Amino acid sequence: MKPAAEVGKDILSSPNKSEATPARELLRRVFGHQSFRTPQAEVIEHVLAGHDALVLMPTGGGKSLCYQLPALLRPGVAVVVSPLIALMKDQVTQLCALGVRAAVLNSTLSWDEMLDVERSLKKGEFDLIYMAPERLLTERMLQLLEQMPIALFAIDEAHCVSQWGHDFRPEYLGLSVLSQRWPNVPRIALTATATEQTRQEILARLGMPAARSFVTGFDRPNIFYQVAEKDEIRTQLWQFIRHKHRGQSGIVYCASRQRTDDLAAWLVNKGLTALPYHAGLDRETRTRHQQKFQQAPDAVMVATIAFGMGIDKPDIRFVAHVDMPKSLEHYYQETGRAGRDGQAASAWLAYGLSDVLQRQRLFSEATDNPANQQRMVKAFDTMVSFCESIECRRQQLLAHFGQSSEPCGHCDNCLNSDAVQDVSEAAQKMLSAVYRLWRQRGQRFGSGHVIDILRGRTTARVSSLGHDSLSVFGIGSELSVAQWRRLLRRLLSEQMLVLDDEGYGTLALTQASVAVLKGQQHLSMRWG
Ligand code: ADP
Ligand code: ZN
Repeated sequence: MKPAAEVGKDILSSPNKSEATPARELLRRVFGHQSFRTPQAEVIEHVLAGHDALVLMPTGGGKSLCYQLPALLRPGVAVVVSPLIALMKDQVTQLCALGVRAAVLNSTLSWDEMLDVERSLKKGEFDLIYMAPERLLTERMLQLLEQMPIALFAIDEAHCVSQWGHDFRPEYLGLSVLSQRWPNVPRIALTATATEQTRQEILARLGMPAARSFVTGFDRPNIFYQVAEKDEIRTQLWQFIRHKHRGQSGIVYCASRQRTDDLAAWLVNKGLTALPYHAGLDRETRTRHQQKFQQAPDAVMVATIAFGMGIDKPDIRFVAHVDMPKSLEHYYQETGRAGRDGQAASAWLAYGLSDVLQRQRLFSEATDNPANQQRMVKAFDTMVSFCESIECRRQQLLAHFGQSSEPCGHCDNCLNSDAVQDVSEAAQKMLSAVYRLWRQRGQRFGSGHVIDILRGRTTARVSSLGHDSLSVFGIGSELSVAQWRRLLRRLLSEQMLVLDDEGYGTLALTQASVAVLKGQQHLSMRWG
């Protein structure tokens, strides 16, 4: 791959690459854009001056330019570290089409091709070279690069260095070596997703404590956020697509491979162009499905989180989650793939009691690493609160990423703000029932049993245990099972009820329950 179109040559034939062509001129001439977006100009200036930067911009914000332009202006080659082969290839193809001298070094190249690229690299024929971290960190590559001037190191998808994040790649940890071997070469780390904590982690782990952070607004105003109550999930999804996104392209995220396959087949049966995608499919099938998704205007990708990073399809009209994402970062990154063209798009998430009950499973997973477990559970709780909340969705999402804002008026909660009710009394009834049962030590009662008692149902279990004589028996007959389950979910998400530690699903009160029982704290929710 040796692109050398006219434009690229032109830039390089300037007498002094670092001064001769101002960034703005290149922006227009090479990239065809009239003006910089914030904070591109600032980042570029900072990197051109030789400083490190951390760039946080939402997907589609224009991160690439922040290193591609300095790559053309600083002497030497810019080394771009990227986690995905497909991603690198696309970028390089685009750059070559613009006449920029870029190449990729990865495992898809034959031995001869690789040697060829390396030879050109040594001769200084590239402005940008893309590679995966594991290749860059081989001694062979490090030594090769030490023989030539390096313009900068760009570390794309920098959140992959975060051990607690959702895309952790151990290879990224080794990248701190760059600061030792090239202390004077600027490094620029880029990501579309990072909380304050992850930002700190990126800076620390990449060894760039002095880097300046550039953060832009994370709002995606064209996305409509909606959380639906899970009932008959397939039918719900089908209705959502049929009524709101008929004939349009979207992604449906599922938690497991099995669910992905089943749901895709079911949607195909309904007449949709649905395709499964998960790590259990062979590479060929995945590539085929991805290509079809990219090309067909109405394709729906039913996928696990294995799908999505680097997908550059501007007209994805919806992202649906039929299982709850593990964290708000996951959720925001995944939904952020919708509507990159700026046209209206939907983020639809269905969530139910079964999702909340997964918390117990998280406790039993990753027990070998308590800190990790704690983080997973915390991320999960934040996600549950987001689903349960009656506040503006966008406001909560932005707040999570450190940006304050007003209620948006364009999410389900903003549109339904008048359907909120005080449910403190029902909550007290449920908490009392749990308390009465808890006093019957030695027995284990699940949520179904509690609801039976509240509704005054004389099931075999209720009568055999004599629970129909409890004072709470039948005190909640005015509410349906669905309403009680909804309230239970809310109480669990507020930690006003917890499941016991042994995983039998028995409910127990907490400190927070007491305030509600005493009437010191009120609880509101959308009753539906
Ligand atoms: P990111 O990496 O942040 O997801 P990209 O760098 O791929 O985003 O850019 C997203 C899109 O925005 C691309 O199509 C790119 O050409 C375009 N873009 C980037 N910067 C500008 C700009 N200053 N003016 C107009 N379009 C831009
Ligand atoms: Zn809102």
